[in-house]
Amino acid sequence: MSLILDGKAVAAALQQALKARSQKLYLDYVFPVLATVRVGESKDAVSYEKGLLKAAKATGVRVRRYILPEDVSEQDVAGLIAQINADPLLSALLLLRPMPAHMDEEALCALVAPQKDVDCLNQTAAPHFIPCTAESCLQILDHYGIDCRGKHAVILGRSRVVGLPVSKLLLDRDATITLCHSKTQDTPALARQADILIAAMGRMGLVGRDYLKPGAVVLDVGIHLDPVTHRLRGDVDAEAVSELAGAITPVPGGVGAVTSTVLMRHVIDAAERSAK
Ligand code: NAP
Repeated sequence: MSLILDGKAVAAALQQALKARSQKLYLDYVFPVLATVRVGESKDAVSYEKGLLKAAKATGVRVRRYILPEDVSEQDVAGLIAQINADPLLSALLLLRPMPAHMDEEALCALVAPQKDVDCLNQTAAPHFIPCTAESCLQILDHYGIDCRGKHAVILGRSRVVGLPVSKLLLDRDATITLCHSKTQDTPALARQADILIAAMGRMGLVGRDYLKPGAVVLDVGIHLDPVTHRLRGDVDAEAVSELAGAITPVPGGVGAVTSTVLMRHVIDAAERSAK
């Protein structure tokens, strides 16, 4: 049976360390504050917001919530973003998505000031933070003392928010990288060479035994609602690989359980930077 890499345990350990950092800031009257902007009542946005509030509480981050009606104009949302960007008492800004269909979400994200853009929403400016999901993968490896140096890491997926930044982070840790994408030929054969396999393709259950070297460490980034069982599943067929993987993150309770806490770390980073 594989070792389960428990994202909740990783988040709990990180939260303790972050709370200490927040408390140190309070002594100088600096308060890490995350401003969230939600337009309407989208189920996904509301549920993400709930997770954020929990992680904020556990890390000593304050949250200023802005909740706007569904029919607010894009211009008014842009005005609010500008106001938050300019407010020195607000350390960070997050737009909860999805935004209503009548809004140009990408254009609004591009208005977020890079120094407050803790979730890397703005694709038009050089980022000041590492995308949270990519950083969460490294947090999990670090928590479990998994050394990347000299290991072959195969990353399935090259998106701007997951595959690409996680490749860079692993390269910085002296892993040897293979980055696969939808045009890669014989991805399973490449994956079978991996000591560390990161599955971030957005393809439910695609990674089976044919993708795994025995003993590999598997981080499953994918999140899908299984239309048959109505349960959450990852990109990895967890049942099929459970005997073969050396260690694996579950879905839910793996990578996704760490990301909100990493986001709080960015808010505290932003508060510390602004206090200097
Ligand atoms: P994305 O933007 O759709 O990117 C998917 C990547 O996978 C693309 O680079 C694509 O290649 C590649 N790909 C697709 N099919 C493939 C295949 N058969 N073989 C090899 N590569 C393939 O997705 P994303 O935003 O990175 O998210 C990936 C998954 O992670 C999704 O399930 C998402 O829900 C989940 N996610 C989880 C968290 C979390 O907190 N746990 C956060 C973000 C995302 P091309 O570039 O060639 O198209």
